[in-house]
Amino acid sequence: MAEFLTTNGTSHNIENIIIEAKAKLILVSPYLQISKTFFERLKDASNKNVSIKIIYGKDELKPNERNSLAELKNVELYFFENLHAKCYFNETKMVITSMNMYEFSEKNNREMGVLINRNIDKELFDKAVAETYSIIQSAEQVSLRKVDRPIFTNKKQQDNNQNKYKRIIRGYCIRCENRIDYNPTRPYCGDCFSIWSQYENPDYQENVCHRCGEYEMTSMNKPQCYHCYTEHQQELRRMM
Ligand SMILES: [Zn+2]
Ligand SMILES: [Zn+2]
Repeated sequence: MAEFLTTNGTSHNIENIIIEAKAKLILVSPYLQISKTFFERLKDASNKNVSIKIIYGKDELKPNERNSLAELKNVELYFFENLHAKCYFNETKMVITSMNMYEFSEKNNREMGVLINRNIDKELFDKAVAETYSIIQSAEQVSLRKVDRPIFTNKKQQDNNQNKYKRIIRGYCIRCENRIDYNPTRPYCGDCFSIWSQYENPDYQENVCHRCGEYEMTSMNKPQCYHCYTEHQQELRRMM
């Protein structure tokens, strides 16, 4: 029979599922953040040649987190916008829970979960596996290579436009990397802006490109990397 889990039990079993995976590991979690512990566990699994599939659903993944995933072999990343389920499994064990992946090392929230062992509840286990694969089928695979990073575009405009011009509508705070609206004249999120505005130094050095989110030297004056800056200039010219 499936086993009931509280917060601690849920974290503990998710961690075990990652550690004990022999050939495959599937992690379904709308919110994905790559904490250090989580990354270390994934790295160990990847080094044991475990095939890892991660399905997430919120566009908050930071490019630098994606870049660290790209360093691992055997990792496939999928994006499915309407994802709300959280489910983690390897060949034999599965946890279905309220807990998002990034929360597994935190103990603040009250979560619940159930642990399913394939050797005991094969039918239940296989149904959840089938549902997960059906989600993967309708999800889009996200390339982990830097150059293929998806940019978030205005869909309507994209459809109306026959040429390759895509207007970027989401960018990154140049200080904390959080997703914010793309606007090179406002490259900080609200919190970071209020700290920046205490000094108002337009050349104060930050580390993230407002447009692509990669580590680059930026500032209020120059919020984009050189590549993004030239792309943006071309866009402005096309709009005129
Ligand atoms: Zn910020
Ligand atoms: Zn850039």
